[in-house]
This record gives sequence, structure tokens and C-alpha cells, in this order.
Amino acid sequence: MQFERILFGTAGVPNSTVKKNNPVDGVKRIHELGLDCMQLEFAHGVRMKEEVSSALRKVSYELNIPLTSHGPYYINLNAREQDKIDSSVERIIQTAKISDLCGAESMTFHAAFYMKDSPYDVFDLVEKSMNVIEERLSRLDIEIELRPELTGKTSQFGSLEELISLTKSVGSCQPCMDFSHLYARTGEYNSYEGFKNVISTIQEEIGAKATDNMHIHISGISCNSKGDLKHLNLEQSDFNWRELLKALKDTNCRGYMICNSPNLEKDAKMLKDYYMSL
Ligand SMILES: [Zn+2]
Repeated sequence: MQFERILFGTAGVPNSTVKKNNPVDGVKRIHELGLDCMQLEFAHGVRMKEEVSSALRKVSYELNIPLTSHGPYYINLNAREQDKIDSSVERIIQTAKISDLCGAESMTFHAAFYMKDSPYDVFDLVEKSMNVIEERLSRLDIEIELRPELTGKTSQFGSLEELISLTKSVGSCQPCMDFSHLYARTGEYNSYEGFKNVISTIQEEIGAKATDNMHIHISGISCNSKGDLKHLNLEQSDFNWRELLKALKDTNCRGYMICNSPNLEKDAKMLKDYYMSL
């Protein structure tokens, strides 16, 4: 997708949607709220009736509200048992299939836990599975951006460096840039200069086009030495979202910004209003 600016949306159906379990109503609510996009959350399983996915595709197209998606939490491409790795691969493929039916072009997921293994070994395993997934999706003729998420806990695979390496080695991979997680994970990158450094690292390592089409996650966050503890509303946290938006705007970054604060659309609106005022 070609983006003219950053699009703002919620992780899942907005809280103020009357039927909160209906993603089609969620997209309509996003439109009413003056927001731009919505992420389908398959956190607890990838199931969707075919009539729902085709209705979603239709409403998303008609209202010009593009969709992204988030795979299930119980994915671990570094699980102890091979059958758990296999089912993680299947869950990612299943998420891609349904996302594609809904018309989503970008999907994110938490790829793996280190399980106390060496990050280098975990990287090799994740890379292997990502190649298998890419190959199978291409045989199914499904074109979707596979975006492992920048994760918030030091026990999870998904540092900025790992995602950059994965993007370089697997064609359909790109990072899902969760800037709140990056801050929680490192205790750094919470200033205008810090955000700008991250953006230029991405551009230098992946290429200037990487920031024309981003998939970003944002929320308030609380953390300890092991990373993120809890998602908070932006104003309850010290995460410097205004400086982030300025840095993204000044470097002409474009793409999706999905807000996963507990208050979803309230923070998404606040982010959008501030960005548009810049
Ligand atoms: Zn996530």
C-alpha cells in the first residue's frame, strides 16, 4: 500500500462499538470516530466465518479503512517440542490466510521465546520457520507482509537488531515497530533524538523505503528490568509519544500506527489529532 501519511487505528474493535464482538461494526465505528484503520486481533485463536471475512473486506474497502492483523499469543517458533513449533507455523499461516481474505496487507505476531537458549540459535530457528512460511504462502498465492513484532520482554525474541536481520534474510519479513516495547525492553529510546536514531537505523539497514510503509504499535507502558509489565493509557505513562510523532513526521515516516492502550480509540484519536496538528 502507498501511504501519504501515518494512518491511526485501534488494536481490535473500538471500546465504544455497540457490539464489541463484531469486527464489521468495529470498522464502521472507526470510520465514525474519524480514525483511519483497524487491526484484527486473533490473540486467542484464528477463527472467522467466511461471511464475516468477506463482509469485513467489503466494509473496509467501502469506508476506506484498511485492516492489519495480529496473530495468536501462543506462537513459539522456539518451542521445546517439534509439534508445538509446527502448530506455531500453522497458526501464522492460518492468520495470513484469514487476514488475506479480509483484505489485510500486513500482519504481526510474537515469533518466539528464548527459553534460555542463545539468541543466535533462536534466530536460526525463527529464520528457518519464516522461510517455510514464506514458501507455503507463496504457493497459496497469498501476498502479505509478515511482521514479527518488536517485543517488550527480554525473554522474548524480537529485539530491533533481530528484526532487522530477519528482514534482510527473509523477503516477506518486515518489522512491526512497537516503540513502547522498544522503550520497555531497553529503557532507552524515549526522546526525540532517540526515536530519530531508531528511524535512521531502520533506513540505513533496511533501506529508505522501509519507512514509507511502516506497521507501528503504540501504548502507554510500565516496565521493570525485564521489560514491559503492563499497557497503560498514554497519559498514565512516561512514554514520550509526542516526541515520537514529531520524529516520525520530520523523517516522513508513513504507514499504520495501531494504538493498543486500554482505552484504544481515545488514545488513537489523541495521537492522530496531535500528529495532524504538526
Ligand atoms: Zn503484540
